[in-house]
Amino acid sequence: MLGVAVSALRRREVGAQEEIDLRVGPDVLPELGLAGDLHVEGRMINLGTEGVEVAITVDGAIARECARCLAPVTVPLDASSEETFGLSGSWPSVVEDTVDVQPMVNEAVLLEEPLRVLCRPDCAGICPTCGKDLNEGPCACAAEEIDPRFAQLKRLLDPREEKR
Ligand SMILES: [Zn+2]
Ligand SMILES: [Zn+2]
Repeated sequence: MLGVAVSALRRREVGAQEEIDLRVGPDVLPELGLAGDLHVEGRMINLGTEGVEVAITVDGAIARECARCLAPVTVPLDASSEETFGLSGSWPSVVEDTVDVQPMVNEAVLLEEPLRVLCRPDCAGICPTCGKDLNEGPCACAAEEIDPRFAQLKRLLDPREEKR
């Protein structure tokens, strides 16, 4: 729940606006995996009997892992979301003179979430055999990843191979 009070705004004239300016720490929304504080900015408009219109932008970053090498990657966020909160019988709606902007923040973050996070476009990943980060250079097993038939032949020709 990221509640913003709208009682003062709703006492004003239809069309009146109020600003939203929130700083949300990573611990408040742990499920989003934020890399730091999230800045939620925007405005609310009093729509009278129609409720309250809320428009926000979220500015911050999420902490993810590279899909290939698992290195930490910080993905910047810059998204917006708009929603009209009715007075009752609709979702979302104003509850106890408060609008909950958390679903809007979640949606904005989800929209920015990359399908595949990479530390860099040409990340070499990690070796599935020995686990070495191949961005740091080739591993010892790379040379041995040859046709299994040749591998057998190689073992016959190179007896040292047996002792490994
Ligand atoms: Zn990577
Ligand atoms: Zn390897």
